[in-house]
Amino acid sequence: MKLLIMGPPGAGKGTQAKILAKKFNLVHLSTGDILRKEIDKSSEVGLKAQTYMNAGNLVPDEVLLEMMQSTLTELKDSGVILDGFPRTIPQAIGLSKIFQSLNQAIDSIINIEVDKNVLITRLVERAKKSGRADDTEEVIVNRQNVYLELTAPLIEFYQSNIIHIDGDGSIDEVTERILNHIP
Ligand code: ADP
Repeated sequence: MKLLIMGPPGAGKGTQAKILAKKFNLVHLSTGDILRKEIDKSSEVGLKAQTYMNAGNLVPDEVLLEMMQSTLTELKDSGVILDGFPRTIPQAIGLSKIFQSLNQAIDSIINIEVDKNVLITRLVERAKKSGRADDTEEVIVNRQNVYLELTAPLIEFYQSNIIHIDGDGSIDEVTERILNHIP
């Protein structure tokens, strides 16, 4: 099974992706987590990504596409849940080419929706504990704007194939809503 989970920063997609990965025995591919690990290792990808991430901007599409092409090829026989990728239209087009070349397709696309003000409050709260370099208020606001400009258009791109989930509620409630839609 190939799942894709989308939503604005703070919507809880990482949390839900972990739960779904466990339940359906999927590899959880969080591009944010992968990139943070690359930064810790000071790898070539990490060095390229760091300045963009710290400012709350997107890492260039080519970097992500190259990384995901090799990861998805390696994992072609496993179930995966994509969390944080694609984040732009060129990434989505690239992803469909990757899957096509592997003779595969996305089974379900989940979009978690949460009101903007709730998101900012959640992220500012999380920032107090996370210690992430991109969790300052200014960068959080930038990440929301980047989402609206570059990632939200994916909703139109995938259109009717998307399952829309109300992300306002407890973790369990949101998981329940998602599970109601997955065959
Ligand atoms: P959040 O969803 O809370 O914003 P993530 O951990 O998913 O956080 O991503 C953190 C940062 O990693 C993003 O702001 C961006 O700089 C970078 N990043 C992650 N995925 C991508 C992607 N698909 N394309 C470009 N940049 C990405």
